[in-house]
Amino acid sequence: MTSTPAPEPRSVLVTGGNRGIGRAIAEAFLAQGDRVAVTSRSGEAPEGALAVACDVTDQAQVDAAFATIEEAHGPVEVLVANAGITRDTLVLRMSDDDWASVLDTNLTGSFRVARRASKSMLRLRRGRLIFVSSVVGLLGSAGQVNYAASKSGLVGMARSLARELGSRSITANVVAPGFVETDMTAELPEEKRAEYRAAIPLQRYASTEEVAAAVTWLASPGAAYVTGAVIPVDGGLGMGH
Ligand code: NDP
Repeated sequence: MTSTPAPEPRSVLVTGGNRGIGRAIAEAFLAQGDRVAVTSRSGEAPEGALAVACDVTDQAQVDAAFATIEEAHGPVEVLVANAGITRDTLVLRMSDDDWASVLDTNLTGSFRVARRASKSMLRLRRGRLIFVSSVVGLLGSAGQVNYAASKSGLVGMARSLARELGSRSITANVVAPGFVETDMTAELPEEKRAEYRAAIPLQRYASTEEVAAAVTWLASPGAAYVTGAVIPVDGGLGMGH
């Protein structure tokens, strides 16, 4: 009987990997034995990861972070664009700054890191680009015009990258979580949390590990033929979209 050889450790970058979903993703790759770099503006990376300070709204910081990571771990083979913020309010109260800062972090920030990662992936002729979107990018959400626009923008971006880079064995996919237990959702009032829970077929929020499992699968050999996909991890909330 022949056994399947263990996959080679890879250079993985998770943006926003110091807490929440990004941290769980970084820990899952570390547990597989990959070389993991984590970027964020503040905070600490999980043990075993290379922590690099990087605000994704600043291209110079993105370029500097990639230089540091490439020197320590080699070219990034798996990019997880996860850093994101919310600035929720109803549309008439939404300022230009509320709009611009969310788009700049969630969508343009992901573009900045994906463009930089694509450069070395094209040279390597392989790579996995994974974007953390949200169920609300497909469903829409009152009070989140900026956030939902940024998250659906990631779908168009990933699918375009899938078409542009596919001939070099680079895949681009999206994970669309529903409600996940993190700092982001801890801000919601309990009555809202209960209302959202009632709308979810599985009747609970996701753990960060459940989102990480979809991300590591998309980066695995088993997902080599999956590109341009949007994988929901939402307890059924967005079914049909
Ligand atoms: P958290 O608020 O817990 O963490 C956000 C992360 O993004 C932090 O690591 C933060 O770093 C980083 N970040 C924010 N702005 C920047 C920036 N300008 N430059 C670099 N890093 C930045 O969020 P979650 O873990 O909940 O969310 C992670 C991703 O998952 C986000 O894209 C979010 O939209 C998405 N998501 C979350 C859901 C949820 O229910 N929680 C549901 C669906 C999607 P720092 O600590 O330095 O600020």
